[in-house]
Amino acid sequence: MSYETVIGLEIHVQLATETKLFCGCSTEFGAEPNTQVCPVCLGMPGVLPVLNRRAVEFALRTATALDCTINTRSVFSRKNYFYPDLPKGYQISQFTEPVAEHGHLDIETSEGTKRIGITRIHMEEDAGKLLHGEGAEEDSYSFADLNRACVPLIEIVSEPDIRSAEEAVAYMKAMRDIVVYTGVCDGNMEHGSFRCDANVSIRPVGREKFGTRAELKNINSFKFVKDAIEYEEQRQADLLDEGGTVVQETRLFDSAKGITVSMRSKEEAHDYRYFDEPDLLPLVVPGAMLEEVKATMPELPRAKRDRFVSEYSIPEYDAGVLTATRALADYYEAVVKETKEPKASSNWVMGEVLRVLKEENRDITDCPLEPKRLAELVTMVKGGKINSNMAKEVFEEIYKSGKTAAEVVEAKGMTQISDEGELVSQIDSIIAANPDEAERFRGGEVKLQGFFVGQIMKATRGQANPQIVNKLLKERLKG
Ligand code: ADP
Ligand code: MG
Ligand code: ZN
Repeated sequence: MSYETVIGLEIHVQLATETKLFCGCSTEFGAEPNTQVCPVCLGMPGVLPVLNRRAVEFALRTATALDCTINTRSVFSRKNYFYPDLPKGYQISQFTEPVAEHGHLDIETSEGTKRIGITRIHMEEDAGKLLHGEGAEEDSYSFADLNRACVPLIEIVSEPDIRSAEEAVAYMKAMRDIVVYTGVCDGNMEHGSFRCDANVSIRPVGREKFGTRAELKNINSFKFVKDAIEYEEQRQADLLDEGGTVVQETRLFDSAKGITVSMRSKEEAHDYRYFDEPDLLPLVVPGAMLEEVKATMPELPRAKRDRFVSEYSIPEYDAGVLTATRALADYYEAVVKETKEPKASSNWVMGEVLRVLKEENRDITDCPLEPKRLAELVTMVKGGKINSNMAKEVFEEIYKSGKTAAEVVEAKGMTQISDEGELVSQIDSIIAANPDEAERFRGGEVKLQGFFVGQIMKATRGQANPQIVNKLLKERLKG
């Protein structure tokens, strides 16, 4: 039997606020366990939560980027469950009235652009983290680190519009780009700042009714999402083929083994006994705040990519690479501003700059070569001052040393020879020194042109301008 996969993702985005959602504790990653806690996030009785305004702003920013309808009035609810990393015994989340709904995100697939619906975005607090010790039974332990308790999250729930592991990865990547671009999240997946639950079901091709879904919890890498979904598709298909049924459950992806394992049967919303949080008023977004958010939205990745193609006439491929991060896009634009040569600049940034940064495991934000100095080099090559081989050498120097391209060219005596008179005399002596080759060229062996260019380059230590050499050679060889 052949099946179609149906996927809906719930993405958890940790908001890049300095303090937690309902208290003033720091959200800084990596501190000693339980050093960033207070009575509020420890869930002591008698304390009261105070909503973090910046977190609300970030939620509104994301909602705007995803074309959601923003609910200017939303409500916080208690989601009750018992877990050792949740000392209050409930999580403050949003349920009946989330902050935003009905948005969408466009992704690129092999069949073109596809629109994925966003069901809702709600705000909630994170839980703590359990640390499990390994070792002999008497040494084993579990500790609760509550630094992460009450850290602000938004959960972005998609419609079940995704149809393959590839689409799920494309959706996740596009979403990460957006939250990083808008500055609401640091995008660090290893730290868990951006992670998802993947809901996966399959149905026989042609059937409309969805199959029963399994929910794959807490996946924090693009590769794991792909692997987990592909494993799950196969597991469910094998089950159905054997005449079995898929049960609704929560599963964990074991990335070491590449399999998913059952964790618990899936709870229903009513199991959580949601009720409105009595300690918080409904969240009413002031009109001025909403306007401020809309007025200060940055250009989003997709719009930037489209603009790069139309404004600079560079290929879509280049535009995609160059807009991968806001910092890289800014770097490129700073180079073009100086050179007025969009394609040549793109080649340098995508080629040499990204290559050395990768080699040195550096980010564009700490690239030692400023756009201005790169621009100078690009301009020199374009103007025929140096050829592209020399330019590569100059690039290495200016990247390492902080010198300008002009200084390096000067110091190395590298200037390109473009003077026709000088080149003609060089060419004539090379032709005179190689009469046989010249004769064969005149007899129709045109590929010997390369031989002559090589000789001239050798004689000029690579400094001859190859375009002019080629042009002059043709003239002089005709004889
Ligand atoms: P819960 O909190 O119970 O997981 P949510 O409504 O928050 O429920 O999320 C459900 C997610 O599962 C959504 O992303 C939705 O698109 C997806 N989904 C719902 N039904 C199916 C299905 N049959 N197959 C795959 N995904 C589904
Ligand atoms: Mg879920
Ligand atoms: Zn606190």
